[in-house]
Amino acid sequence: MSSSNPIQNLHIATKCPMCDATYDKEDIKVIGKKDGALSVYLNCRHCKSSVLVFVMINPVGVTSVSVPTDITEDDFEKVRKNETIDCDDVLEMYKFLKDN
Ligand SMILES: [Zn+2]
Repeated sequence: MSSSNPIQNLHIATKCPMCDATYDKEDIKVIGKKDGALSVYLNCRHCKSSVLVFVMINPVGVTSVSVPTDITEDDFEKVRKNETIDCDDVLEMYKFLKDN
């Protein structure tokens, strides 16, 4: 396996913000990818905390926003079946976080 890890390429923090444990590859899931925006779900197996990271890739660089969440991977699968997360949602979330 020689494929590089896209998460590392994007310089997203790959350490848990709660307990500082380093995420394993299996703990990192890309849940949405569209038009230069990426949403990633990180689940820490050490302290069981979860973080959603929204990454915007634009001409001036890469911006990432981390949001602690209490949804589980199971919840996520449910949501995923019912609705798709599109770029607008990600951008709305980003604007919301930026303004607050
Ligand atoms: Zn942790």
